[in-house]
Amino acid sequence: MKKIDHIGIAVKKLSVSIPLFEKLLNTPCYKTEPVDSEQTNTAFFKSGDSKIELLEAYSPESVINKFIEKKGEGMHHIAFEVDDIRKEMKRLEKEGFRLINIEPKPGADNKLVCFLHPKDTNGILIELVMERK
Ligand code: ZN
Repeated sequence: MKKIDHIGIAVKKLSVSIPLFEKLLNTPCYKTEPVDSEQTNTAFFKSGDSKIELLEAYSPESVINKFIEKKGEGMHHIAFEVDDIRKEMKRLEKEGFRLINIEPKPGADNKLVCFLHPKDTNGILIELVMERK
């Protein structure tokens, strides 16, 4: 894994949290984008080499909605950038980590992504991201 690509934060309303994070980070939100595979709207901020991704549910079935119902707003996942997502998925599976999606799927920001089961990673949801070529 190369570096932390972004940290995902679950929020109730982007309309509230975008201005909040613009103030906090002192930088404008540079992109908002729906991710239909997760039924979420996302908003991105740069923080040096890494990014902050805010996630808002747009349907009751969204995983973000379920997360907020259970745990409230807050840190949702850490995403690591990888060169070859399939190779990294294979390596992690061999090490005994469970993959939530067994095939890489389209994520925000033109990336292919895969999530690891948080029960295997000290309760932290881990996302692998690879630039789509
Ligand atoms: Zn993410």
